[in-house]
Amino acid sequence: MGQEAPREGRVLFGTAGNSRSFYASGCKTSLEAPSFLRKRGLDVYELAFGRGIWLQEKDHAAFRAEAEKNHVTLSVHAPYFINLANPDREKILRSFGYLLGAVRAADGIGAAEVVVHVGSGMRQERGEALRHVRENLSEALTRMAEEGLSGVALCPETMGKPGQIGDLEEILSLCEGDERLLPCVDFAHLHALSRGGLDSREAFARVLDTLERRLGKERAQRTHMHFSAIQYGGAGEIRHLTFGEAGGGPRFELLSPELAERGFRGLLICECAGTQAEDAKAMQDRYEADLARIRAGNLMERTKQHAGRQEDGTPGAETAADPGGSTSPDL
Ligand SMILES: [Zn+2]
Repeated sequence: MGQEAPREGRVLFGTAGNSRSFYASGCKTSLEAPSFLRKRGLDVYELAFGRGIWLQEKDHAAFRAEAEKNHVTLSVHAPYFINLANPDREKILRSFGYLLGAVRAADGIGAAEVVVHVGSGMRQERGEALRHVRENLSEALTRMAEEGLSGVALCPETMGKPGQIGDLEEILSLCEGDERLLPCVDFAHLHALSRGGLDSREAFARVLDTLERRLGKERAQRTHMHFSAIQYGGAGEIRHLTFGEAGGGPRFELLSPELAERGFRGLLICECAGTQAEDAKAMQDRYEADLARIRAGNLMERTKQHAGRQEDGTPGAETAADPGGSTSPDL
C-alpha cells in the first residue's frame, strides 16, 4: 500500500511462482506474492499452474484484491498436461478441462493472459499435428466464449525442444489467424532450439522484426514474454538456469534496448527457479536504464531540432556528442 503503481506503456517485469527470497522473508502462501513483489518494485505475478491448478475458487476474490491493492498484474500458466495436438478426442476433452480450468481461474482473479504449451506431435506428421492444435485452440476459444470468458487471451508458448509443437513460426501461424491469441515468446526456449542462436542484439532484433511484421506493431508490442537462462544440447532445452549459474544464455542486455526502442509494453516473466525475483529485478533495472537513455536521446534530438529551427541555421552541434542512440558500447 502506498507503493508506486507500474507505469503505462512499458514492459512490466515479474516472476513465475515464488523465489527462495519470498520464503526466506517469511512469506508462506502465494496470496502474499503481490505485496512481496510490490515491495521489490516488480509488477507482475504469473501463477504457475504447470503441475495443477492450486488456487481454489473460494480464494479468487482475495487474490484479486491483493493484486489490485498492490498494483500487481496477474497472469496464469496453464497445466503442462495439455496436449492440443492429440488426435484422441477423449484426451482432447481432458485437455479442454485443464485449459478451461486455468482460464476460469484467470477470469476469477482478473488475469488477462493464460500461457499454454500446445503439445507435442505424438508421431504425427508435423503439419497434421499443427492442424489439430489450430482446430482445438479454436474450439477452446469457442468454449471460452460460451462461458463468457472471452476477456482472457490464450498465449501459445514457443518451446525449447524439437519434438514439441511451438517453434516461432508455428506460434505465429497460430496467432495470426485469431485476435484472441497472443504469442508467449520464451527467449530461453528460442535460444535452446536454435542451439545458442540468440547471441547478438541483431539476433533478438530479427525475432522482434518477425513479430512486428506478422502481427502488426501494436499487437507485437503486447507479446507475452518469458526470459531466463537455459542449458541446452543437441536436442534443445535441458533445463532452465539462474542468471548466477555459469554457462547459461541468452543475455538479457542484448534484448533490453530493442524492447525499449520499439515501445514494447507486454509482460515479461522470469522463470529462473529460486532466484526469479532477483533476476527479474536485474532485468527491470537494465531495461529502465535503457529506456531512460533512449528517452533522453530522443529529447535531446527534439531540443536540437527546435533550436535549429529557432536559430534558422546551425543546429546545436556541441550537444550532439553522444545521444545514446542505437549502439551500446557494452554489446
Ligand atoms: Zn511455459
